Amino acid sequence: MKILEIKNLHASIDGKEILRGIDMTVNAGEVHAIMGPNGAGKSTLSNVLAGREGYEITQGEIFYKGESLLDLEPEERAQRGVFLAFQYPVEIPGVSNIYLLKAALNAVRKYQGLEEVDAMDFLTLVRKKMELVKMDEQFLHRSVNEGFSGGEKKRNEILQMAVLEPTLAILDETDSGLDIDALRIVSEGVNALRAEDRSIVMITHYQRLLDYIVPDVVHVLSEGRIVKSGDKDLAKELEKSGYSWIKEQPASEP
Ligand code: ADP
Ligand code: MG
Ligand code: MG
Repeated sequence: MKILEIKNLHASIDGKEILRGIDMTVNAGEVHAIMGPNGAGKSTLSNVLAGREGYEITQGEIFYKGESLLDLEPEERAQRGVFLAFQYPVEIPGVSNIYLLKAALNAVRKYQGLEEVDAMDFLTLVRKKMELVKMDEQFLHRSVNEGFSGGEKKRNEILQMAVLEPTLAILDETDSGLDIDALRIVSEGVNALRAEDRSIVMITHYQRLLDYIVPDVVHVLSEGRIVKSGDKDLAKELEKSGYSWIKEQPASEP
């Protein structure tokens, strides 16, 4: 079953075309990695998928479970099971982590026609999920991401994902700024969340994340286009030869 289908996607910022014809299909249960040099458009793609403001879609379409994603507000996307973790997680002073997690879960439950989660049940659930990313309970009562280290923010994202149990998760540079222990913890968390009915798109500049989370499909994004797709060996190839060879290859026409 197709979960995400991107067709000839073109997107601009301030009249400058950043995404120049992206085609990509992610089926249920698959993990895809999108790799590419700095400035390739990786974060732009994840922001467009999230429905962030400031991007103009000039051509193409995105379907999520057959429904046009571009017609949906960011909140509507989240309610339907699309989860986005950003390269630079936002800090929300004055809003406790547990409050945000519960509100986000209840928004999804509401869409599914379910009642709000009981406070005690939620605490039990969130504690279990925190074990997955080895987070201390004090983080529940602190303001969202405020004063969190880079690694703690990334773990917090995986916690959010674990609580929301999305159908489609897009993780932008989840590995950036992580030391090797944090990388292992975050990877174990993501791996534990791999499921038949969940698709994951991992965006990363570095190959090392893919030693821990082995993708089904690897795409190379360069100058706003997917110039090559393959299996996990493509990531190994990139590690050896870097991104410089990409520039020498003509981008495949959509
Ligand atoms: P990546 O995540 O692959 O490093 P980005 O998607 O962040 O790449 O950026 C792709 C290109 O778009 C870069 O040339 C960057 O300078 C440009 N860009 C990104 N955001 C903006 C913005 N808000 N305004 C203008 N240009 C932007
Ligand atoms: Mg970048
Ligand atoms: Mg980026």
